[in-house]
Amino acid sequence: MNILVLNCGSSSIKFALFNEEHKIIKGLIERIGGNDAIVNYELPQKNVKYKNVVSIPTHEVGIKILIEELLPQSGIKNVNAVGHRVVHGGDKYSLPVIVNDDVKKDIEECIPMAPLHNPHHLAGINAIENFLPKIPNIAVFDTAFFQTIPIEAAIYPLPYKYYEKYKIKKYGFHGTSHYYLMLKTAEILRKKVEKIKIITCHLGNGSSISAIKYGKSVDTSMGFTPAAGVMMGTRTGDIDPEIVPYIQILEGITPKEASIILNKQSGLFGISGISNDMRKIIDEMKKNFRAELAFKIFCYTVKKYICAYLGILNGVDAIIFSAGIGENSYLVRKEVLKDMDKLGIILDNKSNESCVGKDGIISSRKSKIKVLSIRTDEEVMIAMFTKKLVQKEN
Ligand code: AMP
Repeated sequence: MNILVLNCGSSSIKFALFNEEHKIIKGLIERIGGNDAIVNYELPQKNVKYKNVVSIPTHEVGIKILIEELLPQSGIKNVNAVGHRVVHGGDKYSLPVIVNDDVKKDIEECIPMAPLHNPHHLAGINAIENFLPKIPNIAVFDTAFFQTIPIEAAIYPLPYKYYEKYKIKKYGFHGTSHYYLMLKTAEILRKKVEKIKIITCHLGNGSSISAIKYGKSVDTSMGFTPAAGVMMGTRTGDIDPEIVPYIQILEGITPKEASIILNKQSGLFGISGISNDMRKIIDEMKKNFRAELAFKIFCYTVKKYICAYLGILNGVDAIIFSAGIGENSYLVRKEVLKDMDKLGIILDNKSNESCVGKDGIISSRKSKIKVLSIRTDEEVMIAMFTKKLVQKEN
Protein backbone atom coordinates (compact mmCIF):
# COMPACT_ATOMS: atom_id res chain seq x y z
CA MET A 1 0.00 0.00 0.00
CA ASN A 2 1.35 3.44 -0.96
CA ILE A 3 0.42 6.15 1.52
CA LEU A 4 0.76 9.88 1.12
CA VAL A 5 1.03 11.87 4.35
CA LEU A 6 0.10 15.54 4.27
CA ASN A 7 0.56 18.29 6.82
CA CYS A 8 -0.98 21.47 5.45
CA GLY A 9 0.04 24.57 7.42
CA SER A 10 -0.94 28.21 6.92
CA SER A 11 1.48 28.74 4.02
CA SER A 12 3.07 25.34 3.62
CA ILE A 13 2.48 21.72 2.66
CA LYS A 14 4.73 19.11 4.24
CA PHE A 15 4.48 15.74 2.55
CA ALA A 16 5.89 12.22 2.55
CA LEU A 17 5.07 9.18 0.46
CA PHE A 18 5.53 5.69 1.90
CA ASN A 19 5.50 2.31 0.22
CA GLU A 20 5.36 -0.88 2.29
CA GLU A 21 8.92 -0.43 3.52
CA HIS A 22 10.26 3.08 3.21
CA LYS A 23 9.68 6.77 2.99
CA ILE A 24 10.15 7.08 -0.79
CA ILE A 25 9.89 10.83 -1.16
CA LYS A 26 9.50 13.64 1.36
CA GLY A 27 9.40 17.37 1.02
CA LEU A 28 8.08 20.77 1.87
CA ILE A 29 6.33 23.42 -0.20
CA GLU A 30 6.75 26.77 1.57
CA ARG A 31 5.56 30.36 1.09
CA ILE A 32 2.33 29.32 -0.59
CA GLY A 33 0.33 32.39 -1.60
CA GLY A 34 2.67 34.12 -4.01
CA ASN A 35 5.11 33.91 -6.90
CA ASP A 36 8.06 32.81 -4.83
CA ALA A 37 6.94 29.56 -3.24
CA ILE A 38 9.83 27.22 -2.45
CA VAL A 39 9.51 23.58 -3.44
CA ASN A 40 11.88 21.18 -1.69
CA TYR A 41 11.90 17.43 -1.91
CA GLU A 42 14.25 14.52 -1.50
CA LEU A 43 14.33 10.84 -2.37
CA PRO A 44 16.07 9.41 0.73
CA GLN A 45 16.74 5.99 -0.85
CA LYS A 46 18.43 7.50 -3.90
CA ASN A 47 20.18 10.41 -2.21
CA VAL A 48 18.50 12.89 -4.56
CA LYS A 49 17.61 16.42 -3.41
CA TYR A 50 15.70 19.09 -5.35
CA LYS A 51 14.83 22.73 -4.73
CA ASN A 52 13.00 25.23 -6.92
CA VAL A 53 11.12 28.52 -6.65
CA VAL A 54 7.74 28.68 -8.40
CA SER A 55 4.40 30.45 -8.26
CA ILE A 56 1.89 28.65 -5.99
CA PRO A 57 -1.06 30.92 -5.15
CA THR A 58 -3.15 28.41 -3.15
CA HIS A 59 -2.95 25.08 -1.33
CA GLU A 60 -5.04 23.56 -4.13
CA VAL A 61 -2.41 24.53 -6.72
CA GLY A 62 0.30 23.21 -4.38
CA ILE A 63 -1.43 19.82 -4.09
CA LYS A 64 -1.90 19.69 -7.90
CA ILE A 65 1.84 20.27 -8.40
CA LEU A 66 2.59 17.69 -5.73
CA ILE A 67 0.46 15.02 -7.40
CA GLU A 68 1.28 15.78 -11.03
CA GLU A 69 4.93 16.77 -10.83
CA LEU A 70 6.59 15.81 -7.54
CA LEU A 71 5.21 12.39 -6.61
CA PRO A 72 5.96 10.92 -10.09
CA GLN A 73 9.67 11.61 -9.37
CA SER A 74 9.48 8.79 -6.83
CA GLY A 75 8.62 6.21 -9.50
CA ILE A 76 5.43 5.30 -7.64
CA LYS A 77 2.44 5.43 -9.94
CA ASN A 78 -0.50 5.23 -7.57
CA VAL A 79 -1.40 6.48 -4.11
CA ASN A 80 -3.79 4.19 -2.19
CA ALA A 81 -4.68 6.47 0.73
CA VAL A 82 -3.84 9.89 2.15
CA GLY A 83 -3.25 10.51 5.87
CA HIS A 84 -3.76 14.12 6.94
CA ARG A 85 -2.39 15.68 10.09
CA VAL A 86 -5.27 17.58 11.72
CA VAL A 87 -4.32 19.69 14.72
CA HIS A 88 -7.72 19.94 16.43
CA GLY A 89 -10.39 17.27 16.62
CA GLY A 90 -12.13 18.69 19.70
CA ASP A 91 -13.64 16.24 22.16
CA LYS A 92 -14.98 13.85 19.62
CA TYR A 93 -12.03 11.95 18.21
CA SER A 94 -9.79 9.67 20.20
CA LEU A 95 -8.71 7.74 17.10
CA PRO A 96 -7.98 8.49 13.43
CA VAL A 97 -11.03 8.40 11.15
CA ILE A 98 -11.89 8.11 7.49
CA VAL A 99 -12.93 11.55 6.32
CA ASN A 100 -16.53 12.06 5.22
CA ASP A 101 -18.79 15.14 5.21
CA ASP A 102 -19.56 14.81 8.94
CA VAL A 103 -15.86 14.63 9.82
CA LYS A 104 -15.17 17.68 7.67
CA LYS A 105 -17.95 19.53 9.50
CA ASP A 106 -16.39 18.59 12.84
CA ILE A 107 -12.96 19.82 11.69
CA GLU A 108 -14.62 23.05 10.58
CA GLU A 109 -16.35 23.44 13.96
CA CYS A 110 -12.95 23.31 15.65
CA ILE A 111 -11.62 26.24 13.56
CA PRO A 112 -12.23 28.82 16.33
CA MET A 113 -9.94 26.74 18.58
CA ALA A 114 -7.28 26.22 15.88
CA PRO A 115 -7.65 29.11 13.44
CA LEU A 116 -4.08 28.84 12.16
CA HIS A 117 -4.31 25.12 11.38
CA ASN A 118 -7.72 23.54 10.79
CA PRO A 119 -8.73 25.72 7.77
CA HIS A 120 -5.57 24.63 5.94
CA HIS A 121 -6.05 20.95 6.81
CA LEU A 122 -9.52 21.23 5.27
CA ALA A 123 -8.07 22.89 2.17
CA GLY A 124 -5.69 19.92 1.82
CA ILE A 125 -8.50 17.37 2.25
CA ASN A 126 -10.70 19.18 -0.29
CA ALA A 127 -7.85 19.35 -2.81
CA ILE A 128 -7.17 15.61 -2.52
CA GLU A 129 -10.89 14.87 -2.91
CA ASN A 130 -10.77 16.95 -6.05
CA PHE A 131 -7.63 15.50 -7.65
CA LEU A 132 -7.71 11.93 -6.31
CA PRO A 133 -11.47 11.37 -5.87
CA LYS A 134 -11.40 7.60 -5.46
CA ILE A 135 -9.01 7.16 -2.59
CA PRO A 136 -9.72 7.40 1.15
CA ASN A 137 -8.59 10.38 3.22
CA ILE A 138 -7.77 9.67 6.85
CA ALA A 139 -7.68 12.40 9.51
CA VAL A 140 -5.12 11.87 12.27
CA PHE A 141 -5.77 14.33 15.09
CA ASP A 142 -3.04 15.88 17.26
CA THR A 143 -5.55 16.03 20.11
CA ALA A 144 -6.66 12.37 19.93
CA PHE A 145 -3.95 10.88 22.16
CA PHE A 146 -5.01 13.14 25.02
CA GLN A 147 -8.63 12.05 25.23
CA THR A 148 -7.59 9.68 28.04
CA ILE A 149 -6.51 12.53 30.34
CA PRO A 150 -8.68 12.33 33.46
CA ILE A 151 -11.22 15.07 33.96
CA GLU A 152 -9.50 16.58 37.02
CA ALA A 153 -6.39 17.19 34.91
CA ALA A 154 -8.36 18.50 31.93
CA ILE A 155 -10.91 20.95 33.33
CA TYR A 156 -9.71 24.43 34.30
CA PRO A 157 -10.90 25.90 37.59
CA LEU A 158 -12.96 28.56 35.81
CA PRO A 159 -16.74 28.81 36.29
CA TYR A 160 -17.95 25.40 35.09
CA LYS A 161 -20.38 27.02 32.65
CA TYR A 162 -17.45 27.93 30.35
CA TYR A 163 -16.62 24.28 29.97
CA GLU A 164 -20.27 23.54 29.22
CA LYS A 165 -20.86 26.54 26.95
CA TYR A 166 -17.54 26.86 25.11
CA LYS A 167 -15.84 23.49 25.73
CA ILE A 168 -12.91 25.24 27.41
CA LYS A 169 -10.67 22.44 28.69
CA LYS A 170 -7.23 20.97 28.09
CA TYR A 171 -7.00 19.33 24.65
CA GLY A 172 -3.23 18.95 24.30
CA PHE A 173 -1.22 19.01 21.06
CA HIS A 174 1.68 17.10 19.42
CA GLY A 175 -0.26 13.92 20.27
CA THR A 176 0.99 12.02 17.23
CA SER A 177 4.58 12.75 18.20
CA HIS A 178 4.08 11.68 21.83
CA TYR A 179 2.37 8.49 20.61
CA TYR A 180 5.30 7.71 18.30
CA LEU A 181 7.79 8.37 21.12
CA MET A 182 5.87 5.99 23.38
CA LEU A 183 6.02 3.17 20.79
CA LYS A 184 9.69 3.80 20.01
CA THR A 185 10.62 3.87 23.71
CA ALA A 186 8.92 0.50 24.25
CA GLU A 187 10.81 -0.86 21.24
CA ILE A 188 14.20 0.43 22.46
CA LEU A 189 13.61 -0.76 26.05
CA ARG A 190 12.16 -4.05 24.75
CA LYS A 191 9.07 -3.70 26.90
CA LYS A 192 5.36 -3.56 26.16
CA VAL A 193 3.79 -0.09 26.16
CA GLU A 194 1.23 -1.44 28.65
CA LYS A 195 4.07 -2.05 31.11
CA ILE A 196 5.88 1.28 31.10
CA LYS A 197 5.42 4.72 32.60
CA ILE A 198 7.21 7.50 30.75
CA ILE A 199 7.56 11.26 30.38
CA THR A 200 7.96 12.41 26.78
CA CYS A 201 9.48 15.84 26.13
CA HIS A 202 8.80 17.14 22.61
CA LEU A 203 11.07 20.21 22.61
CA GLY A 204 11.02 22.13 19.35
CA ASN A 205 9.92 25.58 18.33
CA GLY A 206 6.65 24.51 19.96
CA SER A 207 7.25 22.33 23.01
CA SER A 208 5.11 20.01 25.08
CA ILE A 209 5.63 17.40 27.77
CA SER A 210 3.38 14.40 28.36
CA ALA A 211 2.89 11.94 31.20
CA ILE A 212 2.10 8.49 29.79
CA LYS A 213 1.01 5.57 31.96
CA TYR A 214 0.77 2.05 30.53
CA GLY A 215 0.04 3.23 26.97
CA LYS A 216 -2.30 6.08 27.86
CA SER A 217 -1.73 9.78 28.22
CA VAL A 218 -2.64 11.01 31.71
CA ASP A 219 -1.52 14.62 31.38
CA THR A 220 0.19 17.00 28.98
CA SER A 221 1.60 20.50 29.27
CA MET A 222 -0.19 22.18 26.37
CA GLY A 223 -3.78 23.06 27.11
CA PHE A 224 -6.81 24.63 25.52
CA THR A 225 -4.33 26.13 23.05
CA PRO A 226 -0.69 25.33 22.19
CA ALA A 227 0.37 28.45 24.12
CA ALA A 228 0.27 26.66 27.50
CA GLY A 229 2.94 24.65 29.29
CA VAL A 230 6.69 25.16 29.04
CA MET A 231 8.39 28.21 27.56
CA MET A 232 8.70 27.98 23.75
CA GLY A 233 10.37 29.70 20.79
CA THR A 234 7.95 32.63 20.75
CA ARG A 235 5.21 31.49 23.17
CA THR A 236 5.11 32.19 26.90
CA GLY A 237 3.91 28.84 28.18
CA ASP A 238 2.20 29.08 31.58
CA ILE A 239 2.02 32.54 33.11
CA ASP A 240 -0.09 34.20 35.79
CA PRO A 241 -3.39 34.83 33.93
CA GLU A 242 -3.82 38.27 35.53
CA ILE A 243 -0.74 39.53 33.66
CA VAL A 244 -2.72 39.59 30.41
CA PRO A 245 -5.47 42.08 31.35
CA TYR A 246 -2.89 44.07 33.32
CA ILE A 247 -0.71 44.62 30.23
CA GLN A 248 -3.79 45.21 28.07
CA ILE A 249 -4.89 48.07 30.33
CA LEU A 250 -1.41 49.60 30.73
CA GLU A 251 -0.59 49.44 27.01
CA GLY A 252 -4.13 50.10 25.76
CA ILE A 253 -4.09 47.06 23.50
CA THR A 254 -6.85 44.76 22.25
CA PRO A 255 -7.21 41.04 23.16
CA LYS A 256 -6.01 40.21 19.65
CA GLU A 257 -2.85 42.28 20.12
CA ALA A 258 -2.30 40.66 23.52
CA SER A 259 -2.61 37.26 21.87
CA ILE A 260 0.11 38.21 19.37
CA ILE A 261 2.42 39.16 22.25
CA LEU A 262 1.76 35.84 24.04
CA ASN A 263 2.17 33.70 20.93
CA LYS A 264 4.64 35.46 18.68
CA GLN A 265 6.74 37.87 20.73
CA SER A 266 7.46 35.95 23.92
CA GLY A 267 9.39 32.80 24.85
CA LEU A 268 13.06 32.48 23.87
CA PHE A 269 12.64 35.37 21.46
CA GLY A 270 10.92 37.67 23.94
CA ILE A 271 13.43 37.12 26.74
CA SER A 272 16.60 37.12 24.63
CA GLY A 273 15.53 39.81 22.13
CA ILE A 274 17.70 37.86 19.68
CA SER A 275 15.95 34.82 18.28
CA ASN A 276 13.48 31.99 18.82
CA ASP A 277 16.17 29.55 17.65
CA MET A 278 17.81 27.66 20.51
CA ARG A 279 21.04 27.35 18.46
CA LYS A 280 21.41 31.14 18.36
CA ILE A 281 20.53 31.43 22.04
CA ILE A 282 23.25 28.91 22.93
CA ASP A 283 25.79 30.67 20.67
CA GLU A 284 25.13 34.00 22.38
CA MET A 285 24.83 32.69 25.94
CA LYS A 286 28.39 33.37 27.13
CA LYS A 287 28.36 37.00 26.08
CA ASN A 288 24.72 37.99 26.47
CA PHE A 289 22.88 37.93 29.80
CA ARG A 290 19.41 37.82 28.21
CA ALA A 291 20.33 34.87 25.98
CA GLU A 292 21.61 33.03 29.05
CA LEU A 293 18.43 33.92 30.92
CA ALA A 294 16.27 32.60 28.04
CA PHE A 295 18.19 29.30 28.09
CA LYS A 296 17.83 29.00 31.85
CA ILE A 297 14.10 29.80 31.95
CA PHE A 298 13.45 27.30 29.14
CA CYS A 299 15.28 24.50 30.95
CA TYR A 300 13.72 25.40 34.29
CA THR A 301 10.15 25.20 32.94
CA VAL A 302 10.91 21.81 31.34
CA LYS A 303 12.40 20.54 34.61
CA LYS A 304 9.33 21.71 36.53
CA TYR A 305 6.96 19.73 34.30
CA ILE A 306 9.14 16.64 34.43
CA CYS A 307 9.12 16.80 38.23
CA ALA A 308 5.35 17.34 38.37
CA TYR A 309 4.80 14.29 36.15
CA LEU A 310 7.28 12.20 38.15
CA GLY A 311 4.99 12.78 41.10
CA ILE A 312 1.75 12.22 39.20
CA LEU A 313 3.06 8.93 37.79
CA ASN A 314 4.65 7.86 41.09
CA GLY A 315 8.00 7.40 39.34
CA VAL A 316 8.71 6.45 35.74
CA ASP A 317 10.74 3.97 33.71
CA ALA A 318 12.06 6.55 31.27
CA ILE A 319 12.25 10.22 30.28
CA ILE A 320 12.45 10.91 26.56
CA PHE A 321 13.83 13.99 24.80
CA SER A 322 12.76 14.68 21.23
CA ALA A 323 12.13 17.25 18.43
CA GLY A 324 14.58 19.95 17.23
CA ILE A 325 15.90 20.96 20.65
CA GLY A 326 15.40 17.66 22.50
CA GLU A 327 17.10 15.55 19.83
CA ASN A 328 19.99 17.89 19.18
CA SER A 329 20.92 19.89 22.24
CA TYR A 330 22.89 17.93 24.80
CA LEU A 331 23.32 21.21 26.71
CA VAL A 332 19.56 21.57 27.20
CA ARG A 333 19.24 17.92 28.30
CA LYS A 334 22.14 18.39 30.72
CA GLU A 335 20.73 21.58 32.23
CA VAL A 336 17.20 20.16 32.54
CA LEU A 337 18.32 16.98 34.31
CA LYS A 338 21.12 18.39 36.47
CA ASP A 339 20.93 17.69 40.22
CA MET A 340 18.24 15.03 39.94
CA ASP A 341 20.27 12.10 41.22
CA LYS A 342 18.16 11.92 44.38
CA LEU A 343 15.17 11.29 42.12
CA GLY A 344 17.01 8.47 40.36
CA ILE A 345 18.05 10.41 37.26
CA ILE A 346 21.74 10.49 36.28
CA LEU A 347 22.90 11.33 32.76
CA ASP A 348 25.93 9.70 31.21
CA ASN A 349 27.82 12.77 30.00
CA LYS A 350 29.61 10.98 27.17
CA SER A 351 26.47 9.33 25.78
CA ASN A 352 24.53 12.56 26.17
CA GLU A 353 27.13 14.60 24.28
CA SER A 354 27.49 12.09 21.47
CA CYS A 355 23.75 11.45 21.02
CA VAL A 356 22.90 14.27 18.63
CA GLY A 357 20.25 13.74 15.97
CA LYS A 358 20.03 10.02 16.59
CA ASP A 359 18.23 7.58 18.90
CA GLY A 360 19.93 6.34 22.04
CA ILE A 361 19.99 5.83 25.79
CA ILE A 362 21.86 8.71 27.42
CA SER A 363 21.52 7.88 31.13
CA SER A 364 24.24 6.37 33.27
CA ARG A 365 24.05 2.70 34.29
CA LYS A 366 23.54 3.97 37.85
CA SER A 367 20.42 5.89 36.85
CA LYS A 368 17.20 4.20 38.07
CA ILE A 369 15.26 6.08 35.42
CA LYS A 370 16.43 5.65 31.83
CA VAL A 371 16.87 8.79 29.75
CA LEU A 372 16.54 8.51 25.97
CA SER A 373 16.94 10.82 23.02
CA ILE A 374 14.63 9.79 20.16
CA ARG A 375 14.06 11.42 16.78
CA THR A 376 10.33 11.91 16.46
CA ASP A 377 8.55 10.99 13.23
CA GLU A 378 4.94 12.12 13.04
CA GLU A 379 4.79 11.18 9.35
CA VAL A 380 5.60 7.52 10.00
CA MET A 381 2.95 7.49 12.72
CA ILE A 382 0.31 9.03 10.43
CA ALA A 383 1.20 6.53 7.69
CA MET A 384 0.88 3.65 10.19
CA PHE A 385 -2.51 4.86 11.43
CA THR A 386 -3.70 5.35 7.84
CA LYS A 387 -2.63 1.89 6.72
CA LYS A 388 -4.22 0.23 9.76
CA LEU A 389 -7.53 1.99 9.28
CA VAL A 390 -7.71 1.35 5.53
CA GLN A 391 -6.88 -2.35 6.04
CA LYS A 392 -9.53 -2.61 8.75
CA GLU A 393 -12.17 -1.13 6.46
CA ASN A 394 -11.38 -3.45 3.53
P1 AMP B 1 11.26 21.70 15.53
O1 AMP B 1 10.13 22.64 15.83
O2 AMP B 1 11.12 20.36 16.17
O3 AMP B 1 11.60 21.62 14.07
O4 AMP B 1 12.55 22.32 16.24
C1 AMP B 1 13.07 23.53 15.78
C2 AMP B 1 14.03 24.08 16.78
O5 AMP B 1 15.04 23.12 17.14
C3 AMP B 1 14.83 25.25 16.21
O6 AMP B 1 14.14 26.43 16.37
C4 AMP B 1 16.09 25.23 17.03
O7 AMP B 1 15.88 26.10 18.10
C5 AMP B 1 16.17 23.83 17.59
N1 AMP B 1 17.41 23.15 17.19
C6 AMP B 1 17.69 22.49 16.05
N2 AMP B 1 18.96 22.01 16.06
C7 AMP B 1 19.49 22.37 17.25
C8 AMP B 1 20.76 22.19 17.90
N3 AMP B 1 21.73 21.53 17.30
N4 AMP B 1 20.92 22.71 19.12
C9 AMP B 1 19.94 23.38 19.75
N5 AMP B 1 18.73 23.59 19.21
C10 AMP B 1 18.50 23.09 17.98
